Amino acid sequence: MNYENTATFATLKDTEDPLRSYRERFHLPIKKDGTPHIYLCGNSLGLQSKSTRQYIEQELLDWEKLGVEGHFHARNPWMPYHEFLTKAMANVVGAKPEEVVVMNTLSVNLHLMMVSFYQPDNERFKIVIESDAFPSDRYAVESQIRFHGHDPREALLEIRPREGEELVRMEDLEALIEREGNQIALIMLGGVNYYTGQVFDFKKITSLGQAHGCKVGFDLAHAAGNLDLQLHDSGMDFAVWCTYKYLNSGPGSLGGCFVHERHARADLPRFAGWWGHNKTTRFNMRHDFDPIPGAEGWQLSNPPILSLAAIRASLDIFEEVGMKKLNEKSSLLTGYMEFLLDEIQNENIRIITPRDPSQRGCQLSIQVKNANKLLFEKITEKGVIADWREPDVIRVAPVPLYNSYMDVFEFVEILKASL
Ligand SMILES: *Cc1c(COP(=O)(O)O)cnc(C)c1O
Repeated sequence: MNYENTATFATLKDTEDPLRSYRERFHLPIKKDGTPHIYLCGNSLGLQSKSTRQYIEQELLDWEKLGVEGHFHARNPWMPYHEFLTKAMANVVGAKPEEVVVMNTLSVNLHLMMVSFYQPDNERFKIVIESDAFPSDRYAVESQIRFHGHDPREALLEIRPREGEELVRMEDLEALIEREGNQIALIMLGGVNYYTGQVFDFKKITSLGQAHGCKVGFDLAHAAGNLDLQLHDSGMDFAVWCTYKYLNSGPGSLGGCFVHERHARADLPRFAGWWGHNKTTRFNMRHDFDPIPGAEGWQLSNPPILSLAAIRASLDIFEEVGMKKLNEKSSLLTGYMEFLLDEIQNENIRIITPRDPSQRGCQLSIQVKNANKLLFEKITEKGVIADWREPDVIRVAPVPLYNSYMDVFEFVEILKASL
């Protein structure tokens, strides 16, 4: 698209946007003067859809009227409630329904997956992560290494950008896997790096890792609902994600988990709970654990229905729109932001996110010279909701479901005026 740096252009693009009506279906946070903020933080906490309240109220109402009977007699019976989400969630991440389950939260699921997919011995015990992995992932990985009696100083392999660069080079990751492959038990990377916005080639990394006998898993917190994922085809062993970022299901809502179908019936070690047990005999309260084949077999507890209801409200919108259309708009909208930022030509800011649209989602990370947080504070004061990540980055995510070209235009105008 030939972009133009004018409000008229932004307005025109909004009028032509096939997804323009979706903005109306979300609550935009409101400033003191009654007008909406420019919300560019859907990568941190997605907005509430206007239908969310109704989905949750339905369950409150059935609980009110039915008590425990709601497990079977609610309009949406609670016993199988998580199953109502499976198909739509599988579509969002490009998986088969048996490969996906909504349960727990991201870090919990990451531990459960490592219990099954990190089985170190004395030869093969290393885990590859990004040097700037999300802190929770690092804590989880290090604690698993220690739990198995190994030392993170030896077992944790960090893939880092070269000196003076921000992004990891694929050839460096390849070299690391070639060099250490027979000692690597698990490769566990972020799907979209939360700091730089860099997206890895899942399929390539997976085949390379698996060719060396490593298990491969991804943390898709910033990828689910953002990228056109094809988890099944990628062949990765597992993935985990949360639903409160691009999937708009509310603070602390439940996470998603993918286990490739090749492990569906595998006798993997796992930490078990009753919700992962064969559904037909679950309530016989038998002694031996008989796991449900597929991702559902990793469930522990009966899930919080109110949170599932919020996720369902969101997934119904994703089903309606489809990831394909979202991705089309996403790359145009983010491309527009990139174009406008480039026009500023100010040496105090620089985009560190990859320029290649296939190596990023909707987020752009803007590095600020001398880590000057004042700039971030100024744009915040002027009504932009974005986020600052130490040491020196402002992250902005124009989300195709509810952000407009005008949001992008106004944001860049505000940034320019604040420099
Ligand atoms: C948001 C995020 C998390 C958060 O984990 P929770 O268990 O949901 O608190 C973990 N990892 C990454 C990469 C994230 O972006």
